[in-house]
Amino acid sequence: MAKFGEMFQEADWKQEKHVPVIKAPGRIGKGEPCAITVGVGAEVSHPNTTAHHIRWIRVFFLPRGAKFPYHVATIEFAAHGESTDGADTSGVYTHHQATVHLKTDHPGTILASSYCNIHGLWGSEKELDVG
Ligand code: FE
Repeated sequence: MAKFGEMFQEADWKQEKHVPVIKAPGRIGKGEPCAITVGVGAEVSHPNTTAHHIRWIRVFFLPRGAKFPYHVATIEFAAHGESTDGADTSGVYTHHQATVHLKTDHPGTILASSYCNIHGLWGSEKELDVG
């Protein structure tokens, strides 16, 4: 039987276009809002067409030593060129990048997952220090 956890693919984002790229400071002050930019295709661009696109990116935070991650944000990319005239006719495409802001008193790991409508689930991580 397939295991859900094994569905998350990881790779070097500099070579693999599906991997969510997490841009965030390495260290923040306690309770100081921190901008986390997540996107796909920072180095190798991913298509954004009606047939092939990134549907969403989710961001989680795992405080160091904690057992369970906290859900920080879900970013849904909803426009992919479709219109009443068919695929790739609207000229409107949500670009697959967004910035969320996080406050935390705890160091830990930022976790991001992305979903491509035809290439599945991808994941990546970045450490965040506090203090
Ligand atoms: Fe893809």
